Amino acid sequence: MHKIIDAHIHCSELRDDALLSFAKANGLKYNLKELLHFMESYGVFSGLLLSPPLSSGMPVPNERIIELCLKSREKLFPILTVEPDEKSVGECVRLAKKEKGYVKGFKIRLGYVEVFPDNKIFAPLYEYAESYDLPVMFHTGDTATSSGSLKHAHPLGLDPLANKRERLKIVACHFGNPWFMDTTELLYKHENVFADISGLVAGVSKYSKKYLDYLAQKISEAIYYVGSADKIIFGTDYPVETYSDAISLVKRIKVSRSDCQKIFFGNARRVFQFD
Ligand SMILES: [Zn+2]
Repeated sequence: MHKIIDAHIHCSELRDDALLSFAKANGLKYNLKELLHFMESYGVFSGLLLSPPLSSGMPVPNERIIELCLKSREKLFPILTVEPDEKSVGECVRLAKKEKGYVKGFKIRLGYVEVFPDNKIFAPLYEYAESYDLPVMFHTGDTATSSGSLKHAHPLGLDPLANKRERLKIVACHFGNPWFMDTTELLYKHENVFADISGLVAGVSKYSKKYLDYLAQKISEAIYYVGSADKIIFGTDYPVETYSDAISLVKRIKVSRSDCQKIFFGNARRVFQFD
């Protein structure tokens, strides 16, 4: 069994959690107990917990995410979701300072909020993230709702930010799907840009098996183009994607066993400063 860090997990145990429909489609209970059970049975050593959206469209409060992490007994660590307003930026920096060493990074919901990554509103957050080497994760690519803004969620929106802030660790979530090649170029161009492969296998169609091969091919090509697998980070996006689908995707990537191990574990450990 591979040793794994899951760098992209959602959970709230709230009744108006908008990801409940994905959980239902995957036959999941979608609660902390079930999540910890899966982590144990699939060899997931640690996970990062991110706020899911509520049916109102707002993210679950970061305090709730920290609360669930504390209940997980050192299995889950919080990523704080930052909204594009001064109040949220200020609160997240304060919360990160208060929980220093426990909070593992930040997340910005591009496409759900209509803002570009290099917007000045985030400057204090980026300063703080840089000084403590905390990664900022960005939703990139397809949005789960049909009203999402693809213009804001496009991975190339990260390029101006990475140009200005070479030290800031940036994670493009979902590999910018469907813009794999654009994300690949960001990984190649910028030393501190990474991509997670979470939530790529969602839903079923008669071409599901072909789609899984397609995804594995895109990720393999990205690794050949960049020349290494050091930039790619495993994640499920639980409950959007199941552990079994997420793991079988990595096993289909045509790279060496040691590179698979980097994707499952080593890259996240380094980027998110585990241990
Ligand atoms: Zn997610």
